Amino acid sequence: MTKDQAAELQAKWHQQGDHYCEHLKVEVECSNDGELTGNSYCLACGAAVAS
Ligand SMILES: [Zn+2]
Repeated sequence: MTKDQAAELQAKWHQQGDHYCEHLKVEVECSNDGELTGNSYCLACGAAVAS
């Protein structure tokens, strides 16, 4: 996913309240050019997760 998509997920997550997230599913971040950035984001809450 891109940084923008992660930001969207974060916004949605916080609208639902501040729930605890175990970051079980993560996806690598890629730039708009499709290059991997080396970061990963949680698919549920959009938080940056160390990979
Ligand atoms: Zn999470």
